[in-house]
Formats: sequence, structure tokens, C-alpha cells
Amino acid sequence: MVPISFEFYPPKTDEQRAQLDRTVARLRAFAPEYVSCTFGAGGSTLSYTSETVRHLQQDLGLEAAPHLSCVGGTREEIRELLKLYRAIGCRRIVALRGDLPSGMGHPGDLRYAAELVALIRAEHGDRFRIEVAAYPEVHPQAEDALADLRHFKAKVEAGADGAITQYFYNADAYFRFVDDARRAGVDVPIVPGIMPISNFTQLRRFSEACGAEIPRWIGKRMQALGDDVAAVREFAADVVAGLCRRLVEGGAPALHFYTLNLARPTEAVLRRLA
Ligand code: FAD
Repeated sequence: MVPISFEFYPPKTDEQRAQLDRTVARLRAFAPEYVSCTFGAGGSTLSYTSETVRHLQQDLGLEAAPHLSCVGGTREEIRELLKLYRAIGCRRIVALRGDLPSGMGHPGDLRYAAELVALIRAEHGDRFRIEVAAYPEVHPQAEDALADLRHFKAKVEAGADGAITQYFYNADAYFRFVDDARRAGVDVPIVPGIMPISNFTQLRRFSEACGAEIPRWIGKRMQALGDDVAAVREFAADVVAGLCRRLVEGGAPALHFYTLNLARPTEAVLRRLA
């Protein structure tokens, strides 16, 4: 198997914190290379992210990588967070632009993730390994696929060491994207982001917003299985495990799982890959 990593979101309530701890306790059995924690643009989950990263890194002894997004923040706020993450002992950052919640005023000092990568490199040298986002099915705001690839390349030229993709269910989109990136001279590892399927209705809504395509045949099969929870889980895990197998056979260097702080859907996929 290739190395794996898990992504969590920062819990806000005691109940959510306990759930994250239970999930981590189960998933760490799969020996992740690192775990990451998402960041809410505009400050709302700012302190939750750093607190969760501290907990994962120092209390639970995992290598924790904070996501850091630059929209809505000032250079000073970003500098403070980087200082904090250094003090906590982090060696890896997932650097993003983020999305401003609609109606939020100030766009922030940095416009694109490439500027954030440049800032981290300029001020912290090689202290952090920097991962950036990549979009095999094209970022929804990109002018077109080629412009999106150029912007991805700019993040690597600014100093990113690797990329994690938006999730997708079409392996060919990933392989084509990697081929295009290599032809464009981008040689960093491009790790597929894997979204195990737990709540299909929620996934469909989420996918529309972030530009990920759910193949029609998956939707149709899910619909046919209806309320048969066991059959839906079985099918979902088979589909995602099949995708992972294809990706690894085709050369994916690692797999990054979007866990949504749930253990079962990710576990079901990983057991099938063992
Ligand atoms: P960028 O790379 O800056 O690109 C954003 C858009 O601008 C793209 O369409 C790109 O083509 C375009 N662009 C880039 N540079 C230029 C330029 N110079 N001129 C014109 N156009 C340009 N969001 C969060 O809020 N918190 C998280 O924790 C989080 N984690 C994520 C983790 C992963 C692995 C991924 C794939 C996404 C994550 N996101 C997160 C979502 C991400 O923030 C959004 O997709 C956001 O819209 C784009 O972020 P980016 O870093 O890809 O932006």
C-alpha cells in the first residue's frame, strides 16, 4: 500500500471533540503518514483549527498539518498562525486560498494560494513541507482547464512540495491531470483526495458547490438501493475501494482521505485495500 493521510475538520463542541477522538483512535490503526485539519475562511474556526492541530500533534502524538487559507485574513494574522504552528511543532502546512462566506466584506491581503505559498517560503524557508490544492475536474472559478493548470503550476513554482486533489470518482480525470501537469513541467507528487461515501444526499449537494462530478451510474445505483443501509454502505465502500485500487495501480503516490470526522466509511474502504 502507498502512504495514507486523513483529513479532519475542527470540532466545536465537546460532543464533536469526543467524536473526533473516537475516530482518531480507530483510524490511527492504519498508520497514517500525517493527519490534516481544515480551516474556515474568514476567521470563524480559526482558533478551533489551531486548537485541534495542537491536540492532534501534542496530546495524540500524530504528525498534524494545519490547513491555512489566506482569504479574509491579513498578512499579520497569517504570520501569527505560522508562528503558532512552528511553536506547536508542525512540519507541514496545506496552503489554500479558501472561499469567503457570501456577504463577507474584506477579501484579505493575499488573493491567491500562490501568494500564500510564497509568503510561507520567504519567511520560514524549508521549515514546512507545503501542500497545495489541485483540481483534476477543474476548479469551478477557473477561466478554463488550461488556465487552472497554469495557476496550479504557479503554486508549485512559488514553492509547494506537493499537491492534494479535490475528490473525484473518475480515475481518468486524475490520470489526465497528472499527465498534463508533468507535460507542463510540474514534477511534485499529486496525491488523490478520496471522499468515502457516507451520506449520499449531502455528498451530491457538496459536489455541486465544489465542482466534483458524481458519475450517473453511481447515483442511479444509490437510488435503487434506497433505504437499504447495509447495501448502500457495501456498494459505496466497493466503489471507493475500486477507485483507490485503480489510482494506486496507475501510480498515485499516496491517498488522502476526507474523513468528515467519521471512522466507519474510511475504515470500510481501507479494509478492502488491505
Ligand atoms: P487558488 O489556487 O488560489 O485558485 C483559486 C481559483 O483562482 C482557481 O480557479 C484558479 O484557477 C484561480 N487563480 C489562481 N491564480 C490566479 C491568478 N493569478 N489569476 C487568475 N486566476 C487565478 N477550503 C477552506 O476554506 N478550508 C480548508 O481547509 C480547505 N481545505 C482544502 C483541502 C484540499 C485538499 C482542497 C482540494 C480544497 C480545500 N479547500 C478548503 C477548498 C479551497 O479553499 C477552495 O477550492 C478554493 O476555492 C480555492 O482554493 P485554492 O487554494 O485552490 O485557490
